[in-house]
Amino acid sequence: MFSFKRRRRDRLRAIPLPQSWLKIIGRNVPFYRCLPEADQRELQGHVQVFLDEKHFEGCRGLQVTDEIRVTIAAQACLLLLHRDTDYYPTMKSILVYPSIYIAHVSESMGNGMVTEGDSVRLGESWHHGAVVLSWDDVLRGASDIHDGHNVVLHEFAHQLDQEGGEAHGSPILPRRSMYIAWARVLGTEYVHLQQDAAHGRRTVLDKYGATNPAEFFAVATECFFEKAVQLKRKHPELYEELKLYYQQDPAELPRC
Ligand SMILES: [Zn+2]
Repeated sequence: MFSFKRRRRDRLRAIPLPQSWLKIIGRNVPFYRCLPEADQRELQGHVQVFLDEKHFEGCRGLQVTDEIRVTIAAQACLLLLHRDTDYYPTMKSILVYPSIYIAHVSESMGNGMVTEGDSVRLGESWHHGAVVLSWDDVLRGASDIHDGHNVVLHEFAHQLDQEGGEAHGSPILPRRSMYIAWARVLGTEYVHLQQDAAHGRRTVLDKYGATNPAEFFAVATECFFEKAVQLKRKHPELYEELKLYYQQDPAELPRC
């Protein structure tokens, strides 16, 4: 990384967040309270960098406020803690709709875009520089930290996935030696989820993860942070791979 970029980020990370932003995080992102103080401080630094580098755009008349920017940034940056990160380098813009919106982009456009569901979408992660979110669902996803549903964690997991090329459930791992175990464990778990979905069995992971390997990784990420204890108990190998990737162990958070 160019040193001027690194120096700029170091400076930004050292600036304390305004009290009003901390209040927003406290109110809208309850997961923050689960984090140890050192992680909270690290997250605050990441939020400064994220908000400096990313562009937010309100859609369908939505006015982008500090509340919107900070609430999204705090969750997106949760995925960056403890890691050597370049802050979602290919993602420049976050488009925010007031609520569930009808997408005007067809699946057939392809070019690496990951789309959710059919025409009604909560969020979307684009390969070429943008994430699209519904503000209603951002708030809903953040408010319950134990339901396994968080659209910001989901969409930004897609972004991490795409750092290694097309999204296919294979982000850039911190060590070369991790790739074989990652492919084996996530591949096996993905097939099991497909089988469970086909047989209507109860699962810890949301069955949307059976759609394709990219969705499996995004759903597993939501589950890792929001249903950590259950995931660890039912899917210990998957939990371990995600723990190594994210460098976090949310099942052990004492305040969560
Ligand atoms: Zn998805």
